[in-house]
Amino acid sequence: MLDCCAHGDGVAQKASHDVYRDGSQGPSGDSVTNLRAAGRPGVGSVALMVGVDVGGSHIAAGLFDGREFIRRHHVAFAPGSVREDVVEAVAEASSRVTPRQSRLPVGVGMPGVTSADGVVLLAPNLSLWDFPMQARLRDLGLSAHVINDANAAALAEWHSGAGRGARSLICVTVGTGVGAGIVLDGQVLFGACGRGGEIGHMLVMPGGPECGCGTHGCLEALASGQAIARMGRQACSGGDPVLLRLCSDDPRTLDAKMVFEAARAGSRAASQIVEQAAMWLGIALANVVSVVDPEVIIVGGGVALSGEEFLDAVSRSMEASALCRIRMPAVVRAHHGTDAGLLGAAVFAGLSSGVLRGKED
Ligand SMILES: [Zn+2]
Repeated sequence: MLDCCAHGDGVAQKASHDVYRDGSQGPSGDSVTNLRAAGRPGVGSVALMVGVDVGGSHIAAGLFDGREFIRRHHVAFAPGSVREDVVEAVAEASSRVTPRQSRLPVGVGMPGVTSADGVVLLAPNLSLWDFPMQARLRDLGLSAHVINDANAAALAEWHSGAGRGARSLICVTVGTGVGAGIVLDGQVLFGACGRGGEIGHMLVMPGGPECGCGTHGCLEALASGQAIARMGRQACSGGDPVLLRLCSDDPRTLDAKMVFEAARAGSRAASQIVEQAAMWLGIALANVVSVVDPEVIIVGGGVALSGEEFLDAVSRSMEASALCRIRMPAVVRAHHGTDAGLLGAAVFAGLSSGVLRGKED
């Protein structure tokens, strides 16, 4: 699978690339010609859908045929002060991968709390709140289906990843923050307002460290990459020699990856930090199991992928906190990496429009 990226800054698109599956590059709007010329089916003979993944600094778009992306577009994006900027940027990115004279379903993954009817309730990185993203895109003529990016990642794992074949799953992404999505019988659990599956802000330690949301003791304040780095810095001030060596005696540069490295290098303090973060995540997952009882728990993101020992510790903590330890769901690594949001957005468009009817064969 091919990918490309372009970096830049400014209000909207500054630089971009279009890439076909065979590696050739071409201008916008000629994808039908190129797909047919390359011997691949075009519009009409195969179900196609578009995925768009909106990040705080980029937008990725892809033309998906149910199995893989056959055309991609990636562009730097810095949201301006006008809320409609993101609408225009998404429409433009979508048009760059959509064959001419076709109206395909477009799934849009947004980094924020999003309701089932496509209203972005809160997306701090984009300065959006209570914004009818889906309706705005449909006003422009797009067959848009808007979803939160963590829910999209969960759907991607259900469709063709670590949750393939499962009827229910929770997919947790532990990176800078903690995001999660729940899929039940092929349906994303949005909840009444879009907060379904948001376990990052589940309260697990009342009175604990302050979270970015203003509450004290959320899971995100105890098990995210930022939280692990913060605890690592505290251990540095306690004089931990391994951590101090890894950050070249400058604790301000310490990140979660260094804490994991220090744990592997024998730092007792770093091992305790990793163990504690895994413990809190395991407790949160035990709570989720009590409510949802999923078949499988999928964990992805930079922190989770830092080592098998982390997932093992999460699993032990979850089982220790569970109501019944028999037939507990397995805790497994996510299959899809940074593509999960884009893929899940495309799958969401396919399922919502009826273009996709189930999992990949
Ligand atoms: Zn919080």
